[in-house]
Amino acid sequence: PAAEYYRVPLTIRHLLDGVLTKAGDQRILYRDQVDLSYREFVGRVGRLASLLEAVGAKPGMTVAVMDWDSHRYLEAYFAVPMMGAVLQTVNIRLPQPQIAYTLQHAEAEILIVHRDFFPIVEALLPLLPQVKAIVAIMDNGFDAVPAWAVGEYEAMSAASSPDYPFEDFDENAVATTFYTSGTTGNPKGVCFTHRQLVLHTLAISAPFGASDAAPWIGVGDVYMPLTPMFHVHAWGFPYIATMLGLKQVYPGRYEPQTICALREIHRVSYSHCVPTVLEMVLNAAEDQGADLAGWKVTIGGSALTRNLLARGHAHGMLLGAAYGMSETCPVVAAAGRRGPPADVGEAGVPDALTLAGVSAPLVEVQIVDEDMNPVPHDGRTRGEVVLRSPWLTPLYTGDQTATAALWRGGWMHTQDIATMDPVGQVQIRDRLKDVVKTGGEWVDSLQLEEIVATGEGIAEAAVIAVPDAKWGERPLAVVVPTPGTIPTLDSINAPVDYAISQGLITRYARLDRFEVVDQLPRTSVGKIDKKRLRARHAEGASS
Ligand code: ADP
Repeated sequence: PAAEYYRVPLTIRHLLDGVLTKAGDQRILYRDQVDLSYREFVGRVGRLASLLEAVGAKPGMTVAVMDWDSHRYLEAYFAVPMMGAVLQTVNIRLPQPQIAYTLQHAEAEILIVHRDFFPIVEALLPLLPQVKAIVAIMDNGFDAVPAWAVGEYEAMSAASSPDYPFEDFDENAVATTFYTSGTTGNPKGVCFTHRQLVLHTLAISAPFGASDAAPWIGVGDVYMPLTPMFHVHAWGFPYIATMLGLKQVYPGRYEPQTICALREIHRVSYSHCVPTVLEMVLNAAEDQGADLAGWKVTIGGSALTRNLLARGHAHGMLLGAAYGMSETCPVVAAAGRRGPPADVGEAGVPDALTLAGVSAPLVEVQIVDEDMNPVPHDGRTRGEVVLRSPWLTPLYTGDQTATAALWRGGWMHTQDIATMDPVGQVQIRDRLKDVVKTGGEWVDSLQLEEIVATGEGIAEAAVIAVPDAKWGERPLAVVVPTPGTIPTLDSINAPVDYAISQGLITRYARLDRFEVVDQLPRTSVGKIDKKRLRARHAEGASS
């Protein structure tokens, strides 16, 4: 209608408006294998849409990608939603039956698959009758394209037109879908619309929480993701980097040595990852003497501990935390020291950098008690984090019960226990399911494990609640000792006793039990898997 002539929908295609004018010659790299200009990249986005259409893609259809972090993945981030289809980013680290489940559940009809995942796809094909076409990514491999594939990505791309006629459509169309990494039961599907992704990209593209010390992405940066692109759109940063016309480096499969080498060669200045990946990179850098100075890295997915902050700082890295979850697109808050810079910690960096931080623009964060009353902003009183924002997933696909638990009273319930201080900084204390309720007191498992991990001879620690006849629950520390150390209850309690004496943690946190393991179980995204720890402990206790 004529009255609407001035309306531009918030669709992903508009993130590319003007990019070629300002950054047409800027580079997008894939390992040491591919070096594209933005001009070529945009052409390849058109080619991908053309080739997908040729193999049957239509608006509303799901196109699933199984690839390492690559320029091809970035092409799919744009081409698939821009043609009105839905991009499914497949978590390739899930067990095979769960990968099959997510492809079935999302009704993926076209797959784009890297050769490393051919064995998985071959095994699953009988379970996926809905799949119409599979595009194979050979990635410099010289094997023959499998018979079940319609063709090879590069060859098909080269033979397709770069001038796909992308059109405007409703900004509320679904653009992406993926599955949370459920460790028990089936993974749950979330989805995001064009409007949600565009607003997230715009709002998160400027440092909203940062103090001068906190890292964030910005003009002039060289960007490399270190959160897999299958995982919540690599936290949305590829969209930001592309919109800003930044030089981008895609590392493929995460290999710490390659990551350090790419970082040095291309002077990568901004990345983001979970703590486990940062540790992997730090270990590799220490082994091979790589230079990490000046590298800004945002840490999320799990708490950034002070130890890790100090370790990165010693290498000249600029680290800071951000907070979000799969359901939240994901960024809703980031570390930002507000008010007086009072809290410079032992390492010479503000401890505030480890906090979940302050809310992003367009995000309302509240910390509430069980009756949905906001708790005082005193930095001490705990409650559940609830959120409102234009970019939270509207639902778990096809799961009304889970959706009803997620969205209650108009707020998204995160199941995270947190405090908020007088200047609005959120600190995540625990997850509702992980907190230890003992003798009527709450012990934060995250805080206790951070304290235990500072102990001598402890490489890593996790704390879970175990049932106790007298106290209801008691904390159990599961520790990985450093080589050659044999921890005792006293040695493990030494830092806990100190923290109690300083009033940092309740005396109920003093441990009366612990277990030694070689390794802590991790989820598919590298977090300590507490569900598995609890299950193992329960099994051990009953056998
Ligand atoms: P993602 O898939 O984005 O990692 P998940 O849904 O697996 O997210 O996990 C999100 C959870 O990770 C949050 O609910 C919270 O418990 C935890 N988390 C994320 N960021 C932080 C942070 N900065 N500090 C502490 N915990 C965090």
